[in-house]
Amino acid sequence: MTRPTVDEDLCIGCGRCEELCPAVFEVGDDGYSHVIDAEGCEAAGCCEEAAEECPVDAISLA
Ligand code: SF4
Repeated sequence: MTRPTVDEDLCIGCGRCEELCPAVFEVGDDGYSHVIDAEGCEAAGCCEEAAEECPVDAISLA
């Protein structure tokens, strides 16, 4: 199963991942994206696109 992680040292809080994949990613009040459903990639089907579209490559899929 694909499990996403966000590297907060890289994330610039642009919101692109949340836009593309709101079931899995959410930009928090701290200005960084967080994974809100680590097991949701399969059902949501948008983690790969979010990872590809992240401008700073902060999203890893393992
Ligand atoms: S797309 Fe990348 S930089 Fe933008 S909020 Fe998501 S993880 Fe952060």
